[in-house]
Amino acid sequence: MEAQVKMDYSVEKTSSRLWNAMHRYNKDAEQTVAVSGEGSWFTDDNGMKYLDGVSGLWCLNLGYGRQEIVNAAAEQMKKLSYFPLTMNHQPAVELAGKISELLGEKYQTFFSNSGSEANEAAFKIVRQYHNQTGNPGKYKIISRYRGYHGTTLGALSATAQANRRVKYDPPVPGFLHVYPPYSYRSIFGGGAEESDLKAAQMLEEMINWEGEETVGAFIMEPFISGGGVIIPSTKYIQRVEDICKKHNVLLIMDEVVSGYGRTGKMFGFMHAEGVQPDIVTMAKGLTSGYLPLGATAVKSEIYDAFKEEGKNNHFRHVSTYGGHPASCAVALKNIEIIEREKIVERVNDLGEKKLGKLDQLIEHENVGEVRRIGFLLGLEMVTDKASKVPLDELKMAEIVGKCKQEGLIIGKNGDTVPGQNNVIIVAPPLTSTEDDLDFIVETVSAVIRSL
Ligand code: PMP
Repeated sequence: MEAQVKMDYSVEKTSSRLWNAMHRYNKDAEQTVAVSGEGSWFTDDNGMKYLDGVSGLWCLNLGYGRQEIVNAAAEQMKKLSYFPLTMNHQPAVELAGKISELLGEKYQTFFSNSGSEANEAAFKIVRQYHNQTGNPGKYKIISRYRGYHGTTLGALSATAQANRRVKYDPPVPGFLHVYPPYSYRSIFGGGAEESDLKAAQMLEEMINWEGEETVGAFIMEPFISGGGVIIPSTKYIQRVEDICKKHNVLLIMDEVVSGYGRTGKMFGFMHAEGVQPDIVTMAKGLTSGYLPLGATAVKSEIYDAFKEEGKNNHFRHVSTYGGHPASCAVALKNIEIIEREKIVERVNDLGEKKLGKLDQLIEHENVGEVRRIGFLLGLEMVTDKASKVPLDELKMAEIVGKCKQEGLIIGKNGDTVPGQNNVIIVAPPLTSTEDDLDFIVETVSAVIRSL
């Protein structure tokens, strides 16, 4: 056991003053204390080892404990421990260049500290861009129900999940929500692709009804993650881009989860051929969670509206720690490793060969749908296939709890949609070994079959 002092973390007699996100909600999670991590595994203060099947919060793309990344942070801190991005520092300049290269077109990147902040910056950029290009009325931001975009009030207002929102209402004005491409429970009918395209059509209807001159942007995750792993037809993403272009609505692609290899492409939107979002937001896998960093990459032609010299039209948004030199150095090393170790190819290969085995669970009466892309997988759990009634919360907790007893951490779309928190989530580090992936498949399969 590595921890020297062992505290009692129970709610009743807590000797910890920490308020974690599960406090007074999930006792088991509340009391888990991690002390170390290596590869896809972490060890708690009882010496128990767990395979982290959701990569922390879907962020540990390269897993725990990569010495190379630790060294990159330490070396940068020794050289230049801090510097604000009201001027430039080398790792930020280099990283912005790298991000532009990875996105396949010229993008200008603004750095922050998290995914929420990356989205907040995007919303402000959208409003200012339209202001400075003769369309000051285009302030509305449309997102999808079940989408997740962060915790801060703007990002939360774009997050259209009732249970995460209602206690903090009212939301920021100007945020609207449209139906997602959720073919399993489609209100549109038809096959998956047809239903997805109708969901895209609804976006256009909304833009028309609201008045094109009032709509500034549409924000989407290429694959809704926290809202239940929803994987639309790639035609949906292409159609959405066409609609946005037609109405001068900027397309913000939230790649916070899907960026940096998670889905078997460097960025999720790259699955949809020809799509090139106006703004791409990222965090999590950008540093594999080693240090905080958020990024808002903006197409150069949009950035051009912010650079007229002598005019007061620059982006009025300064972040003390955004683009911290150590975070940027870590991101550069992280990307270097992703490229060197061909992580994207690995995710494609092993996602299919190993996690693909979980497709077989569709035979089980409680599994309504298996949704999977790369190392991102959702199992929609139901009481029976015909009724599609969502499996109840207690059963869902039982699945997650039993996996934990076996040494596997998995997730569920907890507390997102009233009565529909019934998607089991598996999203392991992209460096998970073949044995790790076998362990995930065997454990999840055995627990679900024991239901
Ligand atoms: N966007 C998406 C798609 C996310 O999943 C998250 C976090 N889970 C965020 C934004 C917010 O990121 P952060 O927690 O770093 O603020």
